[in-house]
Amino acid sequence: MIFELGASGRKGYSLPELTIPIKEVADLIPAEFLRSQPAELPEVSELEVMRHFIALSQLNYHVEKGIYPLGSCTMKYNPKINEVVSRLEGIVALHPLQDEEDVQGALALMHELGQYLCEIAGMEAITLQPAAGAHGELTGLLLIRAYHEDQGNPRKKVLLPDSAHGTNPASASLVGYQAVQIKSNDKGLIDLDDLKRHLDDEVAALMLTNPNTLGLFETQIETVCRLVAEAGALLYMDGANLNALLGIVRPGDLGFDVVHFNLHKTFSAPHGGGGPGSGPLGVSKKLVDFLPVPTVELKDGYYFLDYDRPKSIGKVATFFGNFTVMVKAFAYIRMMGASGLKEASKMAILNANYLLERLKSMYHLPYPTRPMHEFVLSAERQKQYGVRTTDIAKRLLDLGFHAPTIYFPLIVHEALMIEPTETESKETLDAFAEALLQIADEASENPKVVQTAPHNTPVSRLDEALAARQLKVRYRKGD
Ligand SMILES: *Cc1c(COP(=O)(O)O)cnc(C)c1O
Repeated sequence: MIFELGASGRKGYSLPELTIPIKEVADLIPAEFLRSQPAELPEVSELEVMRHFIALSQLNYHVEKGIYPLGSCTMKYNPKINEVVSRLEGIVALHPLQDEEDVQGALALMHELGQYLCEIAGMEAITLQPAAGAHGELTGLLLIRAYHEDQGNPRKKVLLPDSAHGTNPASASLVGYQAVQIKSNDKGLIDLDDLKRHLDDEVAALMLTNPNTLGLFETQIETVCRLVAEAGALLYMDGANLNALLGIVRPGDLGFDVVHFNLHKTFSAPHGGGGPGSGPLGVSKKLVDFLPVPTVELKDGYYFLDYDRPKSIGKVATFFGNFTVMVKAFAYIRMMGASGLKEASKMAILNANYLLERLKSMYHLPYPTRPMHEFVLSAERQKQYGVRTTDIAKRLLDLGFHAPTIYFPLIVHEALMIEPTETESKETLDAFAEALLQIADEASENPKVVQTAPHNTPVSRLDEALAARQLKVRYRKGD
């Protein structure tokens, strides 16, 4: 703890001499607010502060330290140019209440980013307001509800596959819809017969992730979209897995009416404690009128905020959303260009398939279809030695790697969901594969070492429920 470092009277700063006597200052403050004792603050030099925080940062795992293969999360490396651009003075000093004519550059950036995203996903219009993917889902379902209400009946149900991310059914019920599960077939794709059985005139929408959370492209997607459209329902695409599709497939061309983007996944803004997110939402023609106010529009060379949208669902964020995240995504898209983005998706797919080939002799692959940018293994085989997925994840920490996503999607027992992303080199993929292969060997030969891992991290196994519920965030001397 920083309180345990340093020594009484040591300082890491210097201030100019006080020009007023301290007594005079103290007299200005009511007595009850004055301390009788000095505050117990750490007394450390600048060097001690540096060493302390650098040491803390090294206890943590981050994408600058090593591969972060969390399936579904797309933990790609975030180029530092994004940070440079988002800290330009003209951007940092902006205030959201400035007049339109004074912030034409910022509005231009938002407008252009919106156009890039619409082009990437084949959408008609966009809102940049939602602050994350789940917020985009909520906004999208509010739009879907507004659309159906406008047609005379809001309808009652939202269909989702059993492989869906937990935010999907949560968003549906927040908007007042009943979330209804559709089965996956033995190939891990949506079961068409089950879908047909559930489609009726009370279905407001189908929410689908494509590639789905098993990393598999829904090959019957055109049929799925046709069936849903015939029932008068709308199609929501959870775009969290867009990193597999850039420049290759456009959700709008497949028939989707709504798609959210996770700028903090696909478009390289940090996430997971690294900063706020941004979950813009693209829509087809049917939904344009209902978009949140304001939208950013361009007329005769002048950018403006359009509040004149009578059918709008209203605002879903303060001001315009997380602007600096938009700046980072904008910088990334401009830096990569169309061909760079397409190359990123192709490399993401190649990396996942390479890693899968290296691992599938030792780990069970429940759905043996060629995946896109991520894949899901199962620790079913390791179970016979008493080794579970959690144990494998913990053992990876010993070997210097962040664990993949585990126990998701729910339809795979003992799931290990691995997404290497395009930013990892072949050497890193090989090292990660070697670690997982070593653990598979250990599981059969010396299961104890895996079951009791991690052995060389700052803390060993925590009670995960208690650790999240009874946080100790306050230092008390002697605690
Ligand atoms: C990450 C993710 C979400 C939620 O996005 P957030 O930005 O974390 O709110 C939804 N669906 C899928 C498939 C995801 O991977």
